[in-house]
Amino acid sequence: MPAREFDLIKRYFADWPTHDKNVLLGVGDDCALINPPAGEVLAVSVDTMVSGVHFFPNTPAAIVGFRALAVSISDLAAMGAAPLSFTLSLTLPDADESWLSEFSRGLRTAADQYRISLVGGDTTRGPLTIGVQVIGSVPQALALIRRGAKVGDLVCVTGTLGDSGAGLSLLQEHGNVSAYTLDDVLASPDTLISRFFCPTPRLAFGYLLRSYASACIDVSDGLIADLSHVVDASSVGAVIQSHQLPLSEALRNSLCEDPVTLALSSGDDYELCFTVSEDRLNALLDDGRYSELVRTVPLTVIGRIVSGQGVVVQSMQGDTRSVTSSGYHHF
Ligand code: ADP
Ligand code: MG
Repeated sequence: MPAREFDLIKRYFADWPTHDKNVLLGVGDDCALINPPAGEVLAVSVDTMVSGVHFFPNTPAAIVGFRALAVSISDLAAMGAAPLSFTLSLTLPDADESWLSEFSRGLRTAADQYRISLVGGDTTRGPLTIGVQVIGSVPQALALIRRGAKVGDLVCVTGTLGDSGAGLSLLQEHGNVSAYTLDDVLASPDTLISRFFCPTPRLAFGYLLRSYASACIDVSDGLIADLSHVVDASSVGAVIQSHQLPLSEALRNSLCEDPVTLALSSGDDYELCFTVSEDRLNALLDDGRYSELVRTVPLTVIGRIVSGQGVVVQSMQGDTRSVTSSGYHHF
């Protein structure tokens, strides 16, 4: 690697604070060394964001950095895992230092907020692409896997659905993507556009669900698409009540034509969708941590696990509608 790249790494990605005593060696050696917390297993996931595919090329770099880490951490939340460390694979068309400095600031803001340590990475030249691999940990028996849903379980979601999809539409219509700043977006986290730019991984809900949920996933591709993964993995089906879907005030007040379809099929909300038996849900609702969390993030029962396969959406009148579950396909 030429000296110039080492300088860039040193300037923008080295010497960040370590948030965890389990990180024994971070950026700068051939590998990072991480001590798995006693009695826990590591949870590992990687997400790649390609400019022009996953984000508008003119998205402010600080927002790109924050978002790249936040969406990866959402996978940890969906497993009930706690963040430990992450690595960064950066492919850059050129060494644009003003972009790098802003990207690094946004990434570090998210790293500090979610207390996760940057421990290494790789830097290459090519079309702008950002890969973030997160490492977290969770007690093995409590990890929230997808294949545990049982017939009779309730289907629940945290937060509200469809906001991010509506935010994306607004940005596509108005095209003023570069006008936003990370600081403004973080200062007003509930606007539709903020929900798209800087989604909030539901870590605290993930920890709570460890003791209650039978299966869990984060809603990245859209509720139907993601719940389909859970029911397929669990060999069951699900019926969702469309009138019970949690819609934010911002979405209901927007000019968006069909909030329910957005809530069912638009992606990027990064809420948790989980299944839970009625008994365990009652216990969850009595948990003190739940009363604390629900002050800011609602929890809504939206349907039930049934025998069979696939996801069916039922309206208040009882008629069913089919919604394409495709999500986004790259190939
Ligand atoms: P190697 O040749 O052993 O793969 P590199 O030259 O790619 O090492 O990287 C040197 C050091 O800098 C390593 O510790 C690596 O983890 C770190 N590093 C490289 N790129 C990044 C990056 N974008 N962010 C954080 N650390 C990085
Ligand atoms: Mg390398």
